[in-house]
Amino acid sequence: MTNDVENWLKSQMSYTGKRVLVTGASRGIGRSLAMGFAKAGADLILTARDANALDDAAAEIADLGRNAQKIACDQRDIDQIRKTLGDLGPVDVLVNNAGIEDVRPSADVDEALWDKIVDTNLKGAFFVASVVAAGMAKRGSGAIINIASLTSFVGVPTATPYTASKSGILGVTRALAAEWAPMGIRVNAIAPGYFRTGLTDVFYQDEEWVSEMTGKVPMGRLGKLEDLQGAALFLGAPASAYMTGQCLVVDGGYLASI
Ligand code: NDP
Repeated sequence: MTNDVENWLKSQMSYTGKRVLVTGASRGIGRSLAMGFAKAGADLILTARDANALDDAAAEIADLGRNAQKIACDQRDIDQIRKTLGDLGPVDVLVNNAGIEDVRPSADVDEALWDKIVDTNLKGAFFVASVVAAGMAKRGSGAIINIASLTSFVGVPTATPYTASKSGILGVTRALAAEWAPMGIRVNAIAPGYFRTGLTDVFYQDEEWVSEMTGKVPMGRLGKLEDLQGAALFLGAPASAYMTGQCLVVDGGYLASI
């Protein structure tokens, strides 16, 4: 490759000197995305309710020669979001990833469960974005990546509060993109297909489910956590500078084929 090509590619996906905040970074998708940004040269700010659970991710990032700041923040608590994330210094990219799920028939969903899921995945994500965007607006630039879901597009039985929250996050993505574009803040989303994490382990324990779902994915396999890193790096980088309010579906072709 010539130096010109290498330099152009680097400028499109450059994370040197950038600070990326990933919520829910102690395990699963958030941790994998944090590692992707660290490998690309960014320093990280990691959140979860349990700050001790962030130790391993922070150590792995330090091994790559990058900094990782750990913050305990329960994003169901708006005051806590303001206190812990309100004064972080420059944040170039926010990955709004923290989320929960609890599958059960809709008739068995009580108010407490509805609130727990929707307050975490939708209300909390909105207020995290809002608090972090205040700093981005002052500096006139920033990229926010909300983690949506296939349930942002299709109905999944026994997942009504989760589906509501993930459909909502797509609406939030579009509304904020339209409102904050003049401030230099881009807001996009990623909808992952099926990835094995603590959140989905309950499905993966069922071999029949794994084989049935795998059969429905045109690429013939379920997702590996690293499959999401490229989409996140793209949405946070100059390569996607003219893109806002959109959602990248990373699912091996599943949604396109049903
Ligand atoms: P995990 O359960 O593996 O990780 C969830 C993370 O969120 C943990 O770090 C957890 O840390 C944190 N978290 C949970 N609740 C809160 C809270 N109230 N405040 C702050 N942090 C919180 O889940 P996944 O990695 O699978 O999920 C990550 C995101 O991806 C979620 O938004 C999920 O909906 C979405 N997603 C996942 C898919 C999959 O196939 N796995 C598919 C589509 C979307 P702690 O418990 O310490 O707070």
